[in-house]
Amino acid sequence: MSGQNRVAINTGAGSGIGRSASLKLAEQGIRVVLVDYDAQLGAESLSLVKESGGEGIFVQADVSKNAEVEKYVATAIETYGSIDVFFNNAGVLGAPALLADQTEEMFDWIISVNLKGVFLGLKHVVKIMEQQQSGVIVNTSSAAGIESCPHLGVYSASKHGVVGLTRTAAVEYGPKGIRINAICPGGVLTNMTKGMEMNNPEQNGPSRRPATPDEIANVVRFLVSDEASYMNGAIIPVDGGLTS
Ligand code: NAP
Repeated sequence: MSGQNRVAINTGAGSGIGRSASLKLAEQGIRVVLVDYDAQLGAESLSLVKESGGEGIFVQADVSKNAEVEKYVATAIETYGSIDVFFNNAGVLGAPALLADQTEEMFDWIISVNLKGVFLGLKHVVKIMEQQQSGVIVNTSSAAGIESCPHLGVYSASKHGVVGLTRTAAVEYGPKGIRINAICPGGVLTNMTKGMEMNNPEQNGPSRRPATPDEIANVVRFLVSDEASYMNGAIIPVDGGLTS
């Protein structure tokens, strides 16, 4: 299907990887529903999409709230009539702490955004894609979703959960024409990692540097394209070799 006819929902579109992916999909003629709970950042991303000649709308929503997920899905359908691509990407890092020092409140917040948010997005978008008998989804996990992440144990657990949801959803809905994969970035220079030591070569593995958001979004663009038509249930490190 050509880009001109396709519609994408991108969560976490106000910043970082989600903003970059929104621009890259819009460049291909895909109409993008940008979702973020930060209205100012979301509006900025939408302006960038339009300045580059793309088409889209912004919906303010908290991905961890069922009613707000229903709202962004309904708005996409009311506005454009289909959901062909879903980049299920919004996430939070939380405050670093050893496991025994992590608070219950921080646990609940990280899990509600990173795991429940991805689950709710899948739940509501898959229903639309089942009716269409087509669609492609990319969930954002992390290198921390496939290996340990000291001081970020709850984040790591949430991202391992995203891997479990991705594999299961791929098997359940692959026969219905829906492809569902996950990306696992290593360190990426975004608002999430602002203030963190990102240029320590030891932490970045063989690449010796963090990624730019564009380097992650390039993989998303590929995965949602027909070039990736035989990819389903794949858990894809995009980490410069960090987890190899
Ligand atoms: P980012 O620049 O902080 O962008 C994430 C966006 O999601 C922000 O605009 C954020 O808003 C929004 N968001 C957070 N919670 C939300 C919620 N409940 N509902 C709606 N929007 C929400 O971070 P990023 O680095 O691009 O991260 C994107 C994804 O990549 C995340 O899932 C992250 O875990 C994953 N990832 C990032 C890295 C990295 O090194 N950066 C590595 C591996 C995986 P606020 O700014 O207001 O919070």
